[in-house]
Amino acid sequence: MRAQPTIMLIYTGGTIGMIKDFETGALRNFDFDELLNHIPELKLLDCTIETVSFKKPIDSSDMNTEAWIALAEIIESQYHRVDGFVILHGSDTMSFSASALSFMLENLDKPVIFTGSQLPIGDLRTDAKENLITSIQIAALRENNQPVIREVGLYFEYKLFRGNRTTKISAEHFEAFTSMNYPPLAESGMNLTINRELLFRPNLKKPLIVHKELETRILVIKMFPGIDKNTFEYLTNYPHVQALIIETYGTGNVTTESWFLQKLRTLTAREIPIINITQCEKGSVMMGLYETSTELKKIGIISGKDINFEAAIAKTMYLLGKKLSLSSFKTFFETSLRGEMD
Ligand code: ASP
Repeated sequence: MRAQPTIMLIYTGGTIGMIKDFETGALRNFDFDELLNHIPELKLLDCTIETVSFKKPIDSSDMNTEAWIALAEIIESQYHRVDGFVILHGSDTMSFSASALSFMLENLDKPVIFTGSQLPIGDLRTDAKENLITSIQIAALRENNQPVIREVGLYFEYKLFRGNRTTKISAEHFEAFTSMNYPPLAESGMNLTINRELLFRPNLKKPLIVHKELETRILVIKMFPGIDKNTFEYLTNYPHVQALIIETYGTGNVTTESWFLQKLRTLTAREIPIINITQCEKGSVMMGLYETSTELKKIGIISGKDINFEAAIAKTMYLLGKKLSLSSFKTFFETSLRGEMD
């Protein structure tokens, strides 16, 4: 008989592990191990739980590439010893972190589940307990002695999503995340229903590769009617910009003003990747569908297809870190690497 699976809980910070200071009313970090002792339910789970916490837990608004690398290194060092990971993370940037880790952990074949909560775990009405307990159960799920989930997921309020497909949509409701372009991988009700046909299947013959080179000098421009030529030129003239992400209208449309298109031509000539993602929450970029995007296609602008903003940022950082030629960057960006786009 196989021993119980071992799941490693990694606390990075965020509301889930905070307590309310009754004098000021503000939330502050608390000793996470101590806090877990207050959740007797964890002892009822069919797995062994180990915990590790960032030395200095952070509000996820302070998340950065160093913290992502630290997370990836914890996973790398424990990967062959434990059966799965649950990462406790503030909800504000959880989708960015889940996206980043999905690219950093190539050939991952164990579960890495991000979760958090809207209310602290000690709060009477907390959503933290269910999120935490079900995330651990999902990470511990096995079939034929293999993990069921072999990708980076995000579990929140009864749904497990592919991490790099998620977006935080509510600063208020327990149902804080959604995945507009990909259905949930699992849903928790009376039973835990896994949508098996939607799960990512890595190439199991290949060993885990942890990528740690991330380039952050990315400029993001969101299109809006009346966008100012001088502002746009000033920002895009910054000589150290390594990539430009444009959040376009609908299926990838932009203004046809010549100064705008000319600037994109100049940047492309400088081998700066320009990625077209849509402002719409649902659907895909389809350059060439309207005249207002035909020129973008001719210039060689990269299609972000149905990728969301969070995953586009993470994928851009990851691919820039590889120091590819512009044409290889385009090929890789337009290919789904971790199930982040269709
Ligand atoms: N500001 C918090 C954070 O993202 C909110 C949360 O924990 O959900 O760290």
